[in-house]
Amino acid sequence: MAKTIFEKHAPGRKGYTLPDNDVSVSVSDCISENYLRKDNLKLPEVSELDVMRHFLELSHLNHCIEKGFYPLGSCTMKYNPKLHETLVRNCGLVNIHPWQPDITVQGALEIMYEAQHMLAEISGMKQVSLQPVAGAQGEFTGLKIMQHYHQMKNNHHKNTIIMPDSAHGTNPASATLVGYNSVQIKSNSEGMVDIEALKKAVDENVAGFMLTNPNTLGIFETQFDLISEIIHEVDGLMYLDGANLNALLGIVQPGKIGFDILHFNLHKTFSTPHGGGGPGSGPVGVVDKLVPYLPYPLANKRSADKHDDCIYYLDNSHLDTSIGKVHSFYGNFGVYARAYIYIKMLGSKGLKRVSENAIINANYLLAKLKDYYHVPYPKNCMHEFVASGKIQKEKHDIKTLDIAKRLLDKGIHAPTIYFPLIVSEALMIEPTETESLETLDNFIQAMIEIDQECNENPEVVKSAPHNTPVKRVDDVKAARELDVKYEW
Ligand SMILES: *Cc1c(COP(=O)(O)O)cnc(C)c1O
Repeated sequence: MAKTIFEKHAPGRKGYTLPDNDVSVSVSDCISENYLRKDNLKLPEVSELDVMRHFLELSHLNHCIEKGFYPLGSCTMKYNPKLHETLVRNCGLVNIHPWQPDITVQGALEIMYEAQHMLAEISGMKQVSLQPVAGAQGEFTGLKIMQHYHQMKNNHHKNTIIMPDSAHGTNPASATLVGYNSVQIKSNSEGMVDIEALKKAVDENVAGFMLTNPNTLGIFETQFDLISEIIHEVDGLMYLDGANLNALLGIVQPGKIGFDILHFNLHKTFSTPHGGGGPGSGPVGVVDKLVPYLPYPLANKRSADKHDDCIYYLDNSHLDTSIGKVHSFYGNFGVYARAYIYIKMLGSKGLKRVSENAIINANYLLAKLKDYYHVPYPKNCMHEFVASGKIQKEKHDIKTLDIAKRLLDKGIHAPTIYFPLIVSEALMIEPTETESLETLDNFIQAMIEIDQECNENPEVVKSAPHNTPVKRVDDVKAARELDVKYEW
């Protein structure tokens, strides 16, 4: 274990200090004595070099995309170009305040307007709100819009959302939060929605259907038109969980194939470093008839006129019909500004190549690994696929968790494990488009080696990881008994 900065304390050591302040105003002139700290802070005394080494060492303990492959299925851990980070940190963007008058922030409003517009085009939807700040909050917003639509039509009896059993856990959670019952439909032997089961579950009480496409098995759901016909027949709405849009860019426009509402995960598909609970963005797009219900305000554009050069403005004109606001101000500006930059950089051809390469990379891994690991749905996949540690479990009593831990020893982040729930010992693998053939081959090699170890030296897998600074942790205890205070 690395030492803490407190353990590196040695009296008298210090880092760089600024000269004494020669401005005569003292803190107590500005802040009442009552609010000032009475005792000195007990800070460790360390040299500047100690501090540098300490934090550099810490930064190496965590895995990140800059350090190694990160095939965490459903999370789209792609490499995000550093150029975008430089651009979005432009002082004209980071130093503005949401209460500034429109006329002083025309550039930022243009970015909002254009981002709405481009996302609408990518998804085939009429209009997009950038306000939700996570995929799950996008789901909540989209379902609120669905509920509002039904209330407006006096569809008060509608109380149920249907979704497949492969759905991400946030789908039933969002439905519950909005006040709907969620009903799960089982998947058929091909990993797609069982249409007969769907027909049985549908009645007048159905408010809508939530589908992830490609679904969490990485399979493109081809029966979407049949599903949307069945749902629309009872005046239900079709919701697309668009977290897997990395497979569809420039190839499929969900708004054109029967979906009424979708959310994006900009922090997954559109270039924002994520993980660890950092800022996200989950915009919601809707078809024409649902536009009045979107959260307000939307960024809008008026034609230039001589007396008023305020072309871009925040439009509150649908305030009376809107579901309201779902976040303070305008959502996470920095995240959708990154998406704006990403889309502008790639253009429509580039976006399409993103998805094509994401799909090719996933299929390459699938083809190379299926001789070693069980793949329950072995047909061609989209941007990800689900393998299983079932063979290793049955033969050697090695759990998928052990395989995941052993991968860490080889400098690779584990795939998503035990999800989707319908595959036992699931290993959900999403390479993304940003990885080279060498990296993919290295991962294949590592997975084959682990399979060999399962046969020849199962103990080394069962007791993994061996090379990481922290061994197996009790995740449940860590979450339930959070203790982040260091006493010294
Ligand atoms: C990530 C994900 C979500 C939730 O998105 P968050 O931004 O984590 O809230 C929902 N559905 C699917 C399929 C996802 O992969």
